[in-house]
Order: sequence, then structure tokens, then C-alpha cells
Amino acid sequence: MKSKTPRKRKTLTEYARKRDFSRTPEPKPEDDGGAAGQFVVQKHAARRLHYDLRLELDGTLKSWAVTRGPSLTLGEKRLAVRTEDHPVSYLEFEGNIPKGEYGGGSMIVWDRGRWVPEGDPRVGLEKGHLAFRLDGTRLRGLWHLVRIRPKPGEKTQPWLLMKAEDAFARPPGAPEIVDEETTSYLSGRTNQELAAEGGLRADHKTRITIAKAKRILLPDISRVRGARKGLLPVFVEPSLASPCDKPPSGPKWIHEIKQDGYRIQARVDGRNVKLLTRKGLDWTERFQAIADAVRALGLP
Ligand code: MN
Repeated sequence: MKSKTPRKRKTLTEYARKRDFSRTPEPKPEDDGGAAGQFVVQKHAARRLHYDLRLELDGTLKSWAVTRGPSLTLGEKRLAVRTEDHPVSYLEFEGNIPKGEYGGGSMIVWDRGRWVPEGDPRVGLEKGHLAFRLDGTRLRGLWHLVRIRPKPGEKTQPWLLMKAEDAFARPPGAPEIVDEETTSYLSGRTNQELAAEGGLRADHKTRITIAKAKRILLPDISRVRGARKGLLPVFVEPSLASPCDKPPSGPKWIHEIKQDGYRIQARVDGRNVKLLTRKGLDWTERFQAIADAVRALGLP
């Protein structure tokens, strides 16, 4: 699309205006690259500690400063002040912004992963309600960001960040994820450690590369001997365990511990993922996050 680049630059003018790139180690807007569907939460020990949530959309990071940090607890509404768009290279930014500069203080990458909007996120941003799933290492499941009316005279744009009810939500009174997890996803350091060291670890670039490469490598199905194209069956009945007096032995048997829980099969038909019980019941909605994760594998 022709209009994309100029529009992207325009959304980063405020980012550039606020910073002196001869003084801050933060990335310049020109360092931009693609990173569809990525998100980051940075823990930023600025004048006031907060967590910056950034969602990649159309080549920039839509950003919110979450004052008390994200909470998995149901019913917790966290103030999230919309801030200027950031360049995509900010996804990996960790460092000490010099005191006196804009946002001076240490910043660590607290969580990283993919986000999946429900509906068109451009419409959501405009209307003031974004519903989305996070597939990070610390934050998962369904979330809502809802714009609220600013107080009279308030110049900032306040939103609320809330966890929706699902398997990742915690009941009121449960421990807070921001208390449990205090280190960088990239370097394993806390903000205090990063500030005390004064700089990044010598192997910081390698750590970013390793974190990025943590994707699952898929086998090349076309090279499986004897494989033939066919129609995907509606349901493949799984092999089930059956009781017997003595466990079988011999080289053709392996044994595994039977974990308690649900046995589910994922039926992947292009972008259409279904989770089926052993009897073929559709339980996709109950484990939507798993279905999303299977879809993200990009299986043919
Ligand atoms: Mn910040």
C-alpha cells in the first residue's frame, strides 16, 4: 500500500519530538522493521514506576502507560494512559534512559509475545474499546482496553486495562503477577540491577536473537515417505487406554505416566482450528487460548 509509509512516519513524529537521540539509548524511528502481531510490556522505573504496554499495529507500537501494571485478577481495572506510538524496534528495548531525559530511568522487557485482536483493532482504537488475546510468557488470555472520559482539564487520554474471565484469570485476593515476576524476560535482571550495572549485558544482542528464535520449527510434511494428499476426516477416533492385568513389555511398547486432565485433539483445517474431545464434542470455546496457539503454528 502506497500510503502506509508516510502514515507510519507521521504517527512517530511525537516520539521523535520528545527525545534527543544523541542522549538516549532508545531506538530512532528509522530503525523500524516489521513485526506483525507482536506485543511487549516494559517495566519502566521512571520518576514514577509503571508498565508500558505496546501492541504492534500497521508497523508501529500503540502504547499505554499502565500505572500499577497489568493484573490477572478479575474485576481489577488498571489505569492505562495512552502514550505516543513507538517504533517497532522498541519491542526489544531495554536500557537506562539518562536522568533528565524524557522518561529517564531504567527499562526492562517484562513480557513479550503475540497479541490477537478480536475484530478490527483500528475500529476498536477509534471507538475506544479493544478486545484482544495476549500470548506472552507472563500475560495470557483475553483482555479489554476501554477508553474512559478524562477528568475536566485533563490533557491525557485515560483507558482502563482489564482481564476478562477465562482460564488465565485469577480470583480476587490472588497474588499479583507483577509481584511474582520482577525480572527482565530478556536478561533476567531487575530494574535495580540494570540501573546499578549502568549498561546492558555484553551478550544482550545474542539474548534478543535467541528469544526471537524461540519459534517452533515445523517438519516438512511433503518429505514424509508414503505421504499422500487426502481429505481431512471430520473426526479421527483416538486410541484409548484399556485396562489389563499386567502391563505389556517388549521393544514395541513404551510407557508413559497418565496425567490427569482432559485429552483433546486439535483438528486443523487451514485457519480453522477445532478442539475435539475423545468423543468428538467441540470444546474449542473452553480452551480458546490453546486453539489460538495451535493456529499460530501456521500448520498447512
Ligand atoms: Mn514509560
